[in-house]
Amino acid sequence: MSLIEIEHLRKEYPNFTPLKDVNAAIEAGEVISIIGPSGSGKSTLLRCINRLETPTSGHILIDGVDMCDPATDLVAMRRKMGMVFQSFNLFEHKMAVENIMMAPVHLLGVPKQDAYVEAMHLLDIVGLKDKAKAWPHELSGGERQRVAIARCLSMKPEIILFDEPTSALDQKMVTEVLNVMTSLAERGMTMVVVTHEIRFARNVSTRVFYMDNGEIWEEGPPKQIFENPKRRETHDFIFRVKSWEWNIQSTSFDFPGMVASLEIYCAHQLMSTRATNACQLLVEEVVCARLVPEARDRDMRDFDLHILLAAGEGGVSMLLIVDYRSMMGDDDPFEARSDTLSDALINGLTERIERIEPGVMHFHLKDMSK
Ligand code: ADP
Repeated sequence: MSLIEIEHLRKEYPNFTPLKDVNAAIEAGEVISIIGPSGSGKSTLLRCINRLETPTSGHILIDGVDMCDPATDLVAMRRKMGMVFQSFNLFEHKMAVENIMMAPVHLLGVPKQDAYVEAMHLLDIVGLKDKAKAWPHELSGGERQRVAIARCLSMKPEIILFDEPTSALDQKMVTEVLNVMTSLAERGMTMVVVTHEIRFARNVSTRVFYMDNGEIWEEGPPKQIFENPKRRETHDFIFRVKSWEWNIQSTSFDFPGMVASLEIYCAHQLMSTRATNACQLLVEEVVCARLVPEARDRDMRDFDLHILLAAGEGGVSMLLIVDYRSMMGDDDPFEARSDTLSDALINGLTERIERIEPGVMHFHLKDMSK
């Protein structure tokens, strides 16, 4: 018997059926990533598993107990399952450590001192021991989410359900939270994670469920799903992001937004950290160290700098196309700001550089996959 068994699960709303016929078996210690287009039923499935939603038909067995049987003690069953949401529902008027102590003290009757010791241990696990006395509003989004994970662990769940735990966070905080989740996975926690983090799905999960149209359309080990998906829909979803584009029309452009978007693209392309860093560095060097400062110095107003990053053959080599024709005056602004350090950095990252026409350059990145 598997820890979680889902049989012919169906959920209907009056005018929409988010789950049509879901079947799955999940073993203890597995880390399942659920990926798929939005609206395909991923969150609904998660909420049905711990019965925050009432399924229309079908069965969900946890440790052999049917969550859909009216006689089942749902409160007792839910204690086996923690849930971490996209937005971290901390109690704002309680300090971090108190947030973690509450459920053990009030629901399990654990003595306060014991709950405190355990809460401090859990804060240590999520790397926030020094924030024990912080109020939620004093914590960053990533820290709040880590407190939420520690709070969930305080009930000693057998299973943790994560519903897009990082989608409200910026990239640096995403990494902090994913690191905590990865360490939980390494400790053998059974986890079901609805996520857009392809890198987590690929590197940490034991199996990936691709959901589409209210069903698990394809499932398998990450290697199979990401490298050799069998169904066309899975393939299209995985490889949907072919190139990354960004337009800059002002010297005060959204730099963090650009970096985050680039990073998401690189993750979808399953690029290594090294290759991702190389792409990021090259974009920053070309755009932020050379072109944008020149535009600022020359007080350019109506420019439209277009950058595009695309995967070359086999997805290995990357090509960065920079189109700054609208910025061309008598001089080439890219040339005008040339300096030896910057040139050395750009040359170090690229295999070759082509000047296609004045104001259009192609940078062929070195293969960083090895
Ligand atoms: P996903 O997590 O894959 O984005 P969801 O499970 O959140 O998908 O939702 C699937 C669909 O179910 C959505 O299109 C949503 O509009 C619909 N849905 C979710 N909850 C309700 C509800 N309470 N009433 C009607 N439709 C709903």
